[in-house]
Amino acid sequence: MFTTRNDFRAVLDDIARGPSERPIETPQSTRISVDGHELLNFCANDYLGLANHPRVVAAAKSALDTYGFGMASVRFICGTQPPHLALERAISELLRTEATLLQSSCFDANGGIFAALLDERDAVISDELNHASIIDGIRLSKAVRYRYRTRDIDDLEVQLRRAARFRRRLVVTDGVFSMDGAQAPLAAICDLADRYAAMVMVDDSHGVGVLGATGAGTTEAAGMRNRVDIITGTLGKALGGASGGFVSGRTEIVEVLRRRSRPYVFSNAVPPVVVAGSLAALDVVKAGAVERQRLRENAKSFRRSMIEAGFDVLPGDHPIIPVMFGDAAVADRMSAALFGHGIHAVAFTHPVVPPGAARIRIQLSAAHTDGEIACCVAAFVRARRDIAADAHTGTVDE
Ligand SMILES: *Cc1c(COP(=O)(O)O)cnc(C)c1O
Repeated sequence: MFTTRNDFRAVLDDIARGPSERPIETPQSTRISVDGHELLNFCANDYLGLANHPRVVAAAKSALDTYGFGMASVRFICGTQPPHLALERAISELLRTEATLLQSSCFDANGGIFAALLDERDAVISDELNHASIIDGIRLSKAVRYRYRTRDIDDLEVQLRRAARFRRRLVVTDGVFSMDGAQAPLAAICDLADRYAAMVMVDDSHGVGVLGATGAGTTEAAGMRNRVDIITGTLGKALGGASGGFVSGRTEIVEVLRRRSRPYVFSNAVPPVVVAGSLAALDVVKAGAVERQRLRENAKSFRRSMIEAGFDVLPGDHPIIPVMFGDAAVADRMSAALFGHGIHAVAFTHPVVPPGAARIRIQLSAAHTDGEIACCVAAFVRARRDIAADAHTGTVDE
């Protein structure tokens, strides 16, 4: 029992080795200021540079004047305004789905979905690297859980066979795995799901807005738009980066969730200022072929330069680019040294990634310039030199 202040101090000492939060004194952007230091930012999810886009900010300001600040209600009581419905329609149009349900976050979308659709007669077959919100959402349901090795189609088939006796089977995967930037093999997953009469759900938080010719995400990029039953996603990344999430799919599924997803029914409506800003962000996304092209080129050029400079970069083509260091202490020192060279890039260590797989996860944005990308690569080279020199003289040992 942890009852005293000191008990919790001990708990904190145990878990507080991770990086502390650094307040950013500017709007979210590729150029930020932290503690008065100007930094280039390479770890936001602001893939298209919309978090502080003039059109998005203008739409949000105007909604404040028209619709006020807060809803003070859940959606079904008196928390639905025209912009809420317009945003749901706009997301359905982008994804080419029948219907969409706005949620307070993608965490809530995933948190409410499994218990609403499945019970002890059903099975969920889940990729082992799925987002924490999927894992928690499954725990909140009575469905039986089967896990398959990440992106491993053979193991997925083994698990689908084990789940054959259940009434419903739901295969769930992240569209893009956030620690690796790897994409789910959606075509193979959908083929298998057909053979085993399973539904497919994709959490495309890092895909929507980023991947596919029109920005509809991994389902579009994989040519699987009409084969996936449920798509969840976030408004907190490419789509303006404020907050909010959604579930999209067939009308009957979405309407069941509108009545049964507990985070939807029992939690406040997304404020109109966020809804209107996100709607404007979606407009930019829909017309955003040039930005997506720029994003792809930025990711490609960063990757190429880092490989040329001798860094170990995980393969892929998503703007999530993990630079691998293995050892947690080395990744932490690199991140600190990068900070000293004007780059904000956070290290990810165990338990967020497997032990021995520590990394700095770089995320490119369409808003990064060629010069900023070159600065980042040069800073990595300098930081590596700093650390090698420190190791030599033994000055940086904790
Ligand atoms: C970021 C993320 C979430 C959480 O989204 P929020 O809207 O911030 O709750 C859920 N799933 C995946 C795969 C994510 O990357």
